[in-house]
Amino acid sequence: MSASLGIPAPSAPTPRRAPEPGFDAAVVGAGVMGCSVALHLAYGGMRVALLDRGPLCGGATGADAGLLGVQASPPVLLPYARRGQEMWLHMAAWAGGGHVQAVACPGLSLAFTERDAVLLQESAQLQRQAGAPVMLISGGRAMEIEPGLTDKVLLAAHCPAAGFASAHLTGRAFRSALLTAGVEVFEDRPVSAVDQHRAGFTLATPTGAVHARRLVLAGGARLGEMAGWLGFHLPIRVRSRRILVTDRMRPMMRTVLSMATEQLHLAQHGNGTAMIDSFWPEMGERPRDETLREAVRLAAFAIPMLRAARLLRTWPVLEAETVDALPALGPVPGVPGAWIIGGVPAGYASGPCFGMLLAQAMLGLEPELPLFPVDRLPAREIA
Ligand SMILES: Cc1cc2nc3c(=O)[nH]c(=O)nc-3n(C[C@H](O)[C@H](O)[C@H](O)COP(=O)(O)OP(=O)(O)OC[C@H]3O[C@@H](n4cnc5c(N)ncnc54)[C@H](O)[C@@H]3O)c2cc1C
Repeated sequence: MSASLGIPAPSAPTPRRAPEPGFDAAVVGAGVMGCSVALHLAYGGMRVALLDRGPLCGGATGADAGLLGVQASPPVLLPYARRGQEMWLHMAAWAGGGHVQAVACPGLSLAFTERDAVLLQESAQLQRQAGAPVMLISGGRAMEIEPGLTDKVLLAAHCPAAGFASAHLTGRAFRSALLTAGVEVFEDRPVSAVDQHRAGFTLATPTGAVHARRLVLAGGARLGEMAGWLGFHLPIRVRSRRILVTDRMRPMMRTVLSMATEQLHLAQHGNGTAMIDSFWPEMGERPRDETLREAVRLAAFAIPMLRAARLLRTWPVLEAETVDALPALGPVPGVPGAWIIGGVPAGYASGPCFGMLLAQAMLGLEPELPLFPVDRLPAREIA
């Protein structure tokens, strides 16, 4: 009737949104760790919600250098890095065709000074003891492997098992696999708090609560804050690293290069851009121009053809690291049903493996490789 009088009919009361049904597991944080654990839990038959405050892999994972070498890993993590590298190289097989353009190539770690050479000898020895195929070679031999290299290399460590991926493709690569496996993906859905109760967990988000029997914290640089939701203190530090990308150059590199000091890693992507992953303590949000120039100078010193390159883009990325630089990978102490994953440097390379291992444990299976439970960490950070 009211419509015939030209008065709009009163709008029907908005139906209250039915509460979202409970999930077997809710994973908070959709970087490589969260995506991998969510996917493997779904493969194991669980009904999984994956929540992120931004897009899939929009944190460190999508912005990092994507290097897959085992050389950057501490010896105890070598088996994980190897397994992770293998998973990236064959991602299409376990992630429904998704891939990150991963390629395998040799890796060279370079020493330009006597001090660097000592560092390199020490790390190569530890890596060899842990089973990594790392060999010390002369600068001349390094130039045969990497013809673009400067002739100023004093000593190099060669590892045939390195590689790199296009990290910015990671979210896209996981998306279809997650959806096909039935994972409910909630992007732009920040979680602000978690309530623990007898039935499991209730996650507070701006657009409604999410209920789940199990909880996985996978917040990358925010992992410490997330552990705090459950009253657990995770001793973790956050540091900033910086990626620099040049314009497209003709092919000049066929290896992944690292400095013995670990200050810089360098690779050239298939599209010709060179990517420099740098870590100087002062490289925070606003590095001084001089610090950036220093990183570029060191890269161009290693590969002289880079002197002709133009720096196109640079961005900072935050990275979280537990106080012993080993992963937080296991149950949250004192909180049944809650699990934690992350807090390890070079976590991109081994991320798919860590996610799979945590899912295996949560599914009641024996993980392929041991976890790293966080009750090993000191209750308070040691200064
Ligand atoms: C500059 C740089 C270069 C690197 N290069 C390499 C490399 O070459 N090789 C390598 O192996 N590793 C590399 N790393 C390390 C690697 O990036 C990380 O170890 C890895 O990506 C961590 O994955 P993650 O899933 O734990 O964290 P992230 O990818 O950061 O994912 C965490 C997610 O949690 C989400 N989140 C946070 N708070 C909330 C909240 N309240 N609610 C919902 N979601 C939330 C974030 O939005 C984010 O998407 C690099 C790191 C940096 C900083």
